[in-house]
Amino acid sequence: MIPYGKHQIDRRDVDAVVDVLEQRFLTQGDRVPEFERALCAYTGARHGIAVNSGTSGLHIACLALGVGTGDSLWTSPNSFVASANCGLYCGASVDFVDIDPHTRNLSIPLLAQKLARADASHQLPKVLVVVHFAGMSCDMQAIGELCRSYGVAVIEDAAHALGGQYAGGNIGNCAYSDITVTSFHPVKSITSAEGGMVLTNDAVLASRMRLFASHGITKDPVSIQGHSHGDWYYQQQCLGFNYRLSDLHAALGLSQLDKLDEFIARRRQLAGRYFKGLCDLPLKLPRVSNSSAWHLFVVELTKHDRRVSFDALRDRGVGVNVHYIPIHLQPVYQALGFAQGDFPAAEAYYQNAITLPLYPGLTDKEQDKVIGIVREVLS
Ligand SMILES: *Cc1c(COP(=O)(O)O)cnc(C)c1O
Repeated sequence: MIPYGKHQIDRRDVDAVVDVLEQRFLTQGDRVPEFERALCAYTGARHGIAVNSGTSGLHIACLALGVGTGDSLWTSPNSFVASANCGLYCGASVDFVDIDPHTRNLSIPLLAQKLARADASHQLPKVLVVVHFAGMSCDMQAIGELCRSYGVAVIEDAAHALGGQYAGGNIGNCAYSDITVTSFHPVKSITSAEGGMVLTNDAVLASRMRLFASHGITKDPVSIQGHSHGDWYYQQQCLGFNYRLSDLHAALGLSQLDKLDEFIARRRQLAGRYFKGLCDLPLKLPRVSNSSAWHLFVVELTKHDRRVSFDALRDRGVGVNVHYIPIHLQPVYQALGFAQGDFPAAEAYYQNAITLPLYPGLTDKEQDKVIGIVREVLS
């Protein structure tokens, strides 16, 4: 089976991890700050805090922005559940802004409408989590301006988008957002096995996130309140978590970061080959983009039944997948009052979407096989 996504590990990655195993620190050593500095240098963000997953990153991003009981968080229904769950973790309520069927990202006109209505009824959200679906950036300038005018904070869930660009800058530079969250899960642009990073240009948000990621504890003499008891002294200043990334994972992430541009170039090449190979089929293809990180290549069937086609592709060895079941249709969100029909564009998209294999290690030959089988199944 050709999978829909796959990590790519080489000898240098293995050696980087083994190096850590042979050194003194498996965690809280120098690889973590090194990885943080390297991702800041790559993205252009001022501060980076490594965490043990993208999900942990979303949680501490919300906490740092003060999301709590009585607040609300908005996001796209066309995402992984983590984009919304972070609001629930903080005791906030969650709501969604339906997608633009062309970009499959959250719709900016719908966002503008919803913000205006929420403003009139004094129910503005505290935070908007935007998702760069499949690696293509949302229009961050428009979103940033809108949200700023209402005093709504913006988190970019860039789990799909590391290595991509927007308006000439790298995703993660937080030019139009408060915080960007990345993920290093094996299917994403680069991997640390599990892991993630929160990026921000705001020093206060950065220090809050660092605190939340490590029990709420600091040893920094500058941040200690009152007097230190001595060299051993540390202080717990808030209720934090152990969301730290280990040095093993950071070493892998660092080594992978060297190859990020190469990985994205290959993903873009493969996306281009899909556009050529599939253009005459009864399919709605993704928007063409030279700045997308091409995390996913999702086609929408226009004439065929999705379930029948999905099964036929899997039976022939093509490991297709579906991204995403709209979050509000999950039982957890149905129990919160959401219903079928609430976000019709995300639901209509979901009915026909199929994700084709796309990852840097996919060979031309394998992709040609996938294209051939898709053509066969849809003929
Ligand atoms: C993968 C993913 C996450 C969560 O990242 P983890 O590192 O797996 O916790 C969040 N949001 C989106 C859109 C994702 O694809």
